[in-house]
Order: sequence, then C-alpha cells, then structure tokens
Amino acid sequence: MSYKVTQNRAVFLDRDGTLNFDPGYLGDHNKVEILSGVKDGLIFLKRVLNFKLIVVSNQSGIARGLINEEQVVSVNNRISELLSDNEPLLDEIYYCKHHPDFSNNNWCECRKPKPGMILKAYDKYNIDLSNSFIIGDSAADILSGLAVSVFPILLNSLKLEKELEILSKINKSKFKIANDFSEAVQIISHQCGVN
Ligand SMILES: [Mg+2]
Repeated sequence: MSYKVTQNRAVFLDRDGTLNFDPGYLGDHNKVEILSGVKDGLIFLKRVLNFKLIVVSNQSGIARGLINEEQVVSVNNRISELLSDNEPLLDEIYYCKHHPDFSNNNWCECRKPKPGMILKAYDKYNIDLSNSFIIGDSAADILSGLAVSVFPILLNSLKLEKELEILSKINKSKFKIANDFSEAVQIISHQCGVN
C-alpha cells in the first residue's frame, strides 16, 4: 500500500531590499517602508499560486551590536502587519543573528549563503524544494537557494553588478534576474504555467 504525502511549495523571501527599503541595519519599526509591488505580488503568490511565503533574513546587526533582537522582532512584526490582507500574508519570518567575525558560536548554519533557514522551513512545512523559489537582492540569497535546489531570482538594485561578480562562476541558466518584485512574481508565474 502506498500513499502520497502532499508537499507545499514555497517562495522564500529575503527581507531588506526585497520586501522593504533597506537603510542598513533597520532597527526602528517606524522606518519600515514596503517596496512597490510587494504586497500585490505576495497576494498573487499566496492566493492564486498557493505558495507558502517564508522570509529568510540575515540580521548580523545583532551580532555586531548595532541593533538588538527585540528591534529586529519589532521590525519583523511591523512588516508582517503591513503585509496583511485580512490575515498576514507571510507564513513565517526566520532570521539569522550571527556573523562569523562577531559571533563565538562555532559558526552557524543559518546565515545565507548557507541554506539553514530554508531547511528549517522544509522541516516545519514539508516544502517541495525543487518546485520552490527564492527572491533576493544579494548573491547570498541566490547561493542559499541553489544549495538546496530552490530556483533563485535576483532583484535588480544599485549593487547588482557587485552581486553578479560574486555569481560569475554560476551558470547563467541557474538563476534569473528581475527588474523589480513584480517582474520576479511574473517569472514565477510563467514557470508555473500561468500567464
Ligand atoms: Mg537583501
């Protein structure tokens, strides 16, 4: 006898520079600014394409002593509140508070480009990684996805050239570049066979 366990697909989301404007080590929830196209994009990904929406965010400002964990949590709560449509659109917000130069925890498995936060979601939500995506504005986002067969989409930004330089050894067919969040959603939609 066999039975099929239904898996969930997910879109993993970087936080700063992807969902919200990134002023650098954001610690004040009053300064959260959601980027254009993000809320509508998330509504489409969740309601139409049925993806779980999981934030995976490096917050080394904690290890560096620039912001504290309570500030990161309050910013996360504000983002979650702003990205609600009767109920929160984001299923989970994971963050890594470490940095190798500032943490003495024998080095973590969660800081991107490591895929630890993605794997945490995989365990909790039974995620089908090879039919999942990650959207982010850094090479580390792309590499964390590629490490576990999650398809990455790199957002255009002022640092695009620098990020592409880091990714120069990666075959160009392994990820896509989107001009903005809406275009990233379109790419996912196309890959799911929806126009
Ligand atoms: Mg970012």
